[in-house]
Amino acid sequence: MIQNVTILGATGSIGVSTLDVLARHPERYSVFALTADRKWQILATQCLQHNPRYAVLNDEAAALALAEELRRQGCKTEVLQGEDALAQVASHADTHVVMAAIVGAAGLLPTLAAVKAGKKVLLANKEALVMAGGLFTRAVADHGATLLPIDSEHNAIFQCLPNHRADFLANGLQSSGVRKILLTASGGPFRNTPIADLKNVTPEQACAHPNWSMGQKISVDSATMLNKGLELIEACWLFNTRPEQVQVVIHPQSVIHSMVEYVDGSVLAQLGNPDMRTPIAHALAWPERIPSGVASLDIIATARLDFSAPDYERFPCLRLAQQAAARAATAPTILNAANEVAVAAFLQRKIRFDQIAQVIATVLDKQEVIEPDSLALVIASDQKARQLAQSVIASF
Ligand code: NAD
Ligand code: MG
Repeated sequence: MIQNVTILGATGSIGVSTLDVLARHPERYSVFALTADRKWQILATQCLQHNPRYAVLNDEAAALALAEELRRQGCKTEVLQGEDALAQVASHADTHVVMAAIVGAAGLLPTLAAVKAGKKVLLANKEALVMAGGLFTRAVADHGATLLPIDSEHNAIFQCLPNHRADFLANGLQSSGVRKILLTASGGPFRNTPIADLKNVTPEQACAHPNWSMGQKISVDSATMLNKGLELIEACWLFNTRPEQVQVVIHPQSVIHSMVEYVDGSVLAQLGNPDMRTPIAHALAWPERIPSGVASLDIIATARLDFSAPDYERFPCLRLAQQAAARAATAPTILNAANEVAVAAFLQRKIRFDQIAQVIATVLDKQEVIEPDSLALVIASDQKARQLAQSVIASF
């Protein structure tokens, strides 16, 4: 049966890669709904090419412009607008698969809507899981949703873990003979920059990732390595493990996407070219395999693979995330919200690169950590952290 796919965040880096993979397999997949924040021209081109039943924009003026353009072109796609419409297409009875690729906390509610409708959810939007991990994973279990990781590291770990997922999801990874997860990180564009120079780096330099082409926010997160911290928290929720069982390893070539070590000493790794179409194709077709368009890995040209330990003086955000992971409760929610505000301010040139860590540290220091037993409490913690972060930025 043809699978209907909704893409939340279709105009972004992951959204575009997903459409590329889907277009290679018209006999398996049909594009059901495409959504974006406000870039209606890109969404119009995508609608004309893929003919979805629905297109959703967050922004009202953009939605009107899209509807007008599609009418002019004779495209039958129905245009909807607003946050409720995102949740509506994500949970629609005719949607089978939802790619959750909105960036940041804005993705939480539509992704949860897909989970609560029991969909197959392909999770790129790591912030949603970091922000509300307990509620999110409980909703997956309660509603029989299938959650598959798109983040390349987590997709690699998923491929290296045992198949009897129900066991370790119920009893923890250790019960399945796993000793630890080795979470690899490229080290980003500033791996070798003198630490004193990090004060003066620009958004353009921070967004120029050596191995991956990605959205601006995750590019800055990779440069601070807060991204690896978010991924550590993401791994704990996805695979029911503890932060101490996850070792962050710098691996500049980004050829090994992560590894799993077992108690017998075996270490399994997943390798491939750094191209998100591999994890996207893997998750779309799982447990089958389909071509993704990614070139074969030239292992001879790769020649060498290097590994080192992260330097916490260079990457204070990684330490902050590890501490938040250990504290748990709403500490990751606060970390994520403060970071989103700080990264936006850095991209607008309101703060320096090294001040991102200062904002997060100050907010984590000031805000009380509580047990997040409802979505309302999670959202309130997120909002409070955003306000505190704004006031820290104003005080610089
Ligand atoms: P991006 O900035 O390129 O795209 C973001 C998408 O989200 C766009 O379609 C945008 O329109 C939409 N969006 C933004 N704000 C929105 C809002 N308020 N409401 C509705 N839609 C909104 O980002 P990206 O690089 O594609 O990353 C998307 C997610 O995937 C992030 O959570 C990121 O951490 C994760 N991820 C990305 C990569 C990658 O290679 N790009 C790898 C791993 C994980
Ligand atoms: Mg990643």
